[in-house]
Amino acid sequence: MRKNIVAGNWKMNKTLEESQALTKDLLAKVPANTNTNVIIAPTFPNLYPVQEMIKDSNISLAAQNAHFEESGAFTGEVSVEMLQSVGIETVIIGHSERRSIFGESHDLLAQKSSKVVKAGLQLMFCFGEVLEDRKAGKHFDVVKSQLEESVFQLTADDFKQVVLAYEPVWAIGTGETASPEQAQEMHAFIRDLLKDKYGEDTAENTSILYGGSVKPNNAKEIFSKPDVDGGLIGGASLKADDFVSIVTAF
Ligand code: PEP
Repeated sequence: MRKNIVAGNWKMNKTLEESQALTKDLLAKVPANTNTNVIIAPTFPNLYPVQEMIKDSNISLAAQNAHFEESGAFTGEVSVEMLQSVGIETVIIGHSERRSIFGESHDLLAQKSSKVVKAGLQLMFCFGEVLEDRKAGKHFDVVKSQLEESVFQLTADDFKQVVLAYEPVWAIGTGETASPEQAQEMHAFIRDLLKDKYGEDTAENTSILYGGSVKPNNAKEIFSKPDVDGGLIGGASLKADDFVSIVTAF
């Protein structure tokens, strides 16, 4: 069975002290008996100190990015092995900010995705259309090609370690969210693509998260849709009370 997941992408926010304070708050407020997999993604320098705080809890850690090589002359980059050595279980790849601001291509994302799963970590792969694509009615085609040109190069076996995160770019950080119906429609489409490519088992067992201005006041309705298995949360993950109310919105 697929898992319900709520992941907080802290992006380039919070100093060490602030990261520790938010983590402390989360440890106190995330219910011990939640059935939801709770993941947080602080910045690179804060991963290890936060890991030290959460290691005996039901919260796990994601990195926001990784390089596909193990080591070498790649100034400013961090490898999957380094992340693994500090206890990271999940790596986010393909976030729209990596694609649009840092020019990450489908090929690069395919290489990174492959590296993450081969190393045995969970891959959280993000994708989604921009506003012009949606206005032009091309959103299904765009999403299909984003998947086909990168993460669909993995095998069905690899896919046991994959979580997909559909994030329409027009809804990220804008306060505008896809309606629950728009999210469901796209998630059902993605699940059908998974079925065509990998078969029923993979389609049924892959968690598909929605991301884009999920807040405490809209999470419940979005998560109630049958093909939405949780959320990737940006802004609202920076406040413990908001994030916890999203974690408990199923
Ligand atoms: C994100 O960055 O992945 C995201 C969904 O951000 P926000 O929740 O702020 O729209």
